[in-house]
Parts: sequence; structure tokens; C-alpha cells
Amino acid sequence: MARIAFIGLGNMGGGMAANLAKAGHEVRAFDLSEDALLRAEARGASRAASAEEAVADAEAVVTMLPAGKHVRQVYETSVIGKAPASAILMDCSTIDVATARDEIGKAGAAGYAMVDAPVSGGIAAAEGGTLTFMVGGSEEAFARAEPLLAQMGKAVIHAGAAGSGQAAKICNNMLLGATMVATCEAFAMAKKLGLDLRTFYDISSKASGQSWSMTSYCPVPGVGPETPADRDYEGGFAAALMLKDLRLALEAAQSVDAYTPMGAEAEALYARFAEALGGGHKDFSGIIRMIDDSWTPPAA
Ligand code: NAD
Repeated sequence: MARIAFIGLGNMGGGMAANLAKAGHEVRAFDLSEDALLRAEARGASRAASAEEAVADAEAVVTMLPAGKHVRQVYETSVIGKAPASAILMDCSTIDVATARDEIGKAGAAGYAMVDAPVSGGIAAAEGGTLTFMVGGSEEAFARAEPLLAQMGKAVIHAGAAGSGQAAKICNNMLLGATMVATCEAFAMAKKLGLDLRTFYDISSKASGQSWSMTSYCPVPGVGPETPADRDYEGGFAAALMLKDLRLALEAAQSVDAYTPMGAEAEALYARFAEALGGGHKDFSGIIRMIDDSWTPPAA
């Protein structure tokens, strides 16, 4: 069992830290939010007064923070040079590839092994310990991180060198954003052409238009398996977070001169849905309401 510092106990980090405590680790928690700290304490972690205090004698450090600037600030002021050099550092936040590479480089120069380990799966997967981790870093760092990450997830995949976890995550989510929009478009048009939507689902989910967005996460209420569409697009993966990931994807595309017209279009559509129309808190499949504003659920 290890002494683990956990920094960032929000929607995702709260459940992840609780799973580490449940597995028997000594979890030292720090967050800027008092509420988050109280919840972490109630779920088996002990509270640290600062990030520095949390990492002081840690064997492992996990961070789950909003964005790259928070990760940079926490690592540069409170982790690198403050945690024992023997600690394995794991940043599970979704951030830009450049910051991930830079921080792993700085940690390495100070003698630390560090990985970027963003996750696929939302709050329910964080709670249930069924996240998928995409990990970037050296073979040695991956080998040390893997057993701890496995206690918070169902799969831990080594994506490659530093930053590769973030690269895999944003390429995947760019594809997801684009296929969700395309799936919504196809259903909206099918409705206008007079097709029965369950019949269209039955056909397309077995034909070449099939994708995860259609078969596992259908944006139409009452069609396919139960999804956020059946709960008025509540819960699930917020459109604001999809927009964040699409913006990270476009930033990365620009940095390597990759041509991503579908990603760019998905970003523009999610910006309109999440920001201009106030749908940011809704599940990302709720964008169907913007694509077809005459939407009415099919009869039961
Ligand atoms: P969140 O905002 O609920 O939690 C972030 C926590 O970090 C907050 O409690 C905040 O107080 C804390 N924090 C911020 N700055 C800090 C600092 N300097 N020191 C200590 N604590 C600090 O966010 P979340 O939904 O838990 O997401 C965390 C990360 O996981 C994000 O990068 C997000 O993109 C990614 N992610 C989220 C989901 C999801 O469904 N929510 C899914 C996959 C990935």
C-alpha cells in the first residue's frame, strides 16, 4: 500500500481518490475547495493544508485538475522539488499536449518519473473505478504508474512517449465530436424524410453508418440502449467539456500543421450549442436539439 498525494478532488478526482482509499492506500488530499476536501475526508482520505504538505512524503502523486495552466502551476510551485524524487507523478487531467510534454520534461530534469494519464469515461466511471487511462511517458514510468492507475480503471494503455496520452485523448474526442454531430444530422434528416427513427437506427447501426455515437450513445430518446437522451440530456459528458477537448484538438492540429476540417466544424457547432445557446451543462448528444430545433421524441 502506498502513500498517495491526490490534488484536485472535483467531479472526477473525488471518485478516483475514494477508490484509491478503498483499495487501502493512504490518500493525502488537497483541493482549493473546502467542499471538495470535506467530501474527500468523508470518503477515506486525510486532508492536507496545502499541495506541498500533501506531497511531502508521498510515494505517488495524482493530479486531476481543470486545465493546463492549473497543472503547470501545481507542478512548478508545489510538486517538483517538494515531493521526494522517488515519487511517481501522474497527471490525469485533460490538458494540451505541449504543456504535458513540458511538465514531464521539467519533472524528468529534476529526477522524477512522470506520466500524462488522461481518462476516457465520465463521473460514473470515476466513481465506479472503470475509467480507461491513456498513458504517455517512458516504459519505466509507465510500469510504475500502471498498477496504481489500474485501481481506478478498467484499462490502462501505454500510448507512447510523454504527451502521447493527451494526443490519443484529443484525437479520440475530436472523432467523437464529429461523429456525434454527423449522427444527429442523419437522424434529423431521416425524420424530415419520413423515416421511422427506430427503423433507421436498426438499419444504420448494422450498416456502414454505424459508430459508437449511434449504437452505444444514440442521441435520440427512446431509440437504442438507454443514454442521456432518455434523461433530457442530463448527466453523461457535458457539451462544455466536449468543446474544451475540441479546442485542445484544434490547438494540437495547428501545432503540427494537421488538416482537420471536420474537427473545426465540430468545434464551431459545439461553441454555438454550449456558449451561444447555453447548452454547456447538457450532455454533448443534446446538440441534436440545435441541429433539429423542431425535435419531438418519437412516440413510445
Ligand atoms: P472539476 O472542476 O470538477 O474538478 C477540478 C478540481 O480541481 C476542483 O475541485 C478545483 O477546486 C480543483 N483545483 C483547481 N485548481 C487547483 C489548485 N491549484 N490546487 C488544488 N486544486 C485545484 O473538474 P472535473 O470534471 O473533475 O475534471 C477534471 C479533469 O478531468 C479536467 O481536465 C477534465 O477535462 C477531465 N475529464 C473530465 C470528465 C468529466 O466527465 N467530468 C471526463 C474525462 C476527463
